[in-house]
Amino acid sequence: MKNWKMETKAVQSGYVPGNGEARVLPLYQSTTFKYDDAQSVADLFDLKREGFFYSRLANPTVDAFERKIADMEGGVAAVALSSGQAANAMTLMNLAEAGDHVVAVSSLYGGTVSLFTNTLKKCGITFTFIAPDADEAAIRAAIQPNTKAVFAEVLANPALVVLDIERFAAAAHAFHIPLIVDNTFPTPYLCNPLAHGADFVTHSTTKYLDGHASSVGGIVVEKGGFDWAVSGRFAGFTEPDPSYHGLIYAKDFAAAPFSVKLRVQLVRDYGVPAAPFNAYLTNMGTETLALRMERHSSNALALAKFLVQHPNVGWVNYPGLEDSPEHAMQLKYMPKGASGVLCFGVKGGKAAGEVVMNALKLAAIVVHVADVRTCVLHPASMTHRQLSEAEQIAAGVSPDLIRVSVGIEHIDDIIADFDQALNKI
Ligand code: PLP
Repeated sequence: MKNWKMETKAVQSGYVPGNGEARVLPLYQSTTFKYDDAQSVADLFDLKREGFFYSRLANPTVDAFERKIADMEGGVAAVALSSGQAANAMTLMNLAEAGDHVVAVSSLYGGTVSLFTNTLKKCGITFTFIAPDADEAAIRAAIQPNTKAVFAEVLANPALVVLDIERFAAAAHAFHIPLIVDNTFPTPYLCNPLAHGADFVTHSTTKYLDGHASSVGGIVVEKGGFDWAVSGRFAGFTEPDPSYHGLIYAKDFAAAPFSVKLRVQLVRDYGVPAAPFNAYLTNMGTETLALRMERHSSNALALAKFLVQHPNVGWVNYPGLEDSPEHAMQLKYMPKGASGVLCFGVKGGKAAGEVVMNALKLAAIVVHVADVRTCVLHPASMTHRQLSEAEQIAAGVSPDLIRVSVGIEHIDDIIADFDQALNKI
């Protein structure tokens, strides 16, 4: 399985039907599972055997989807969650608790910044934000004795900074702490962060993995092989868990301790699993991921080139453009394409930008990104609205920035729509 190319994994990994079984991953729309004897269920509760007993913890449809994404990312295991927000929240809460600290880049999705600076802060976890292009010395300088992780986005939403994954991994690993990256925008088709040194990958599967704007979901993938003992910082993995008869995750589940602990502690207690129907739909979406990401990327590059030469456009940010400051990093980490999101500002600033957004006919204004339909959004007044002005600037959100999620429609129709709208200014 591991030797398959990404296109094949996207179609074939995860669900392997037996003789006479359904060809397509079945939807197990069932909260619970039947057993013939009480001991079997007791053993499942004690984690003495693998199996399904209650869909808050695990479900066969969700399980197959998790196996596929783990395989596509090159990890040992994955846990699917109810949303991308849940994936990022649970990932950090699996590593850090009150009194702990996390280093994060400032160019994160607004909802993630809000999660960190409001909700996780209330849980006693503090954050230091650094620039996404911080050098190794600056990353190391932000790490404290109580730091439990470094967190970044591979392709920042919407600043579109491409993370130097190897540099961030080197700095984190110097302190034996993990690097977590949110790989939502590139997807495993365009970038495999685990191969570049990241330890955990998160996704809002709501975006390209589903690809059709049908299902909210999230997932976290574990690379495996992280040394939990060496730093002395991760007692939750190296000391007995009283809520599971004293088992030690790093020892008793050495192959994938992070995923087991996440599932049996946090998903169990907070109740944030992926819904089976959402996993079913998202799994179906992943089957065409390779084809879609190629088209999203080529359409976005063509639209970016069109916008660059339009007289009413002030600036364009797309890492796939040859003169983009991000182009070298894009070629290094995402050589197959720069994904489908670009940002631009029109001459005349925010007010003129609003005229353009309102005049678009094919591209809709929606609070979403990364599905087959082209759409636009104004982050300063929408996704990043909860952030202060300083946080917006640090996140790369200028007041005039329009984010475009370029769909897979014919590029001529997309360009014609932007052309007519820009000519309304
Ligand atoms: N991470 C990134 C990069 C995102 O863009 C988003 C949402 O836009 C999220 C996480 C949160 O995901 P969800 O909306 O599925 O909770």
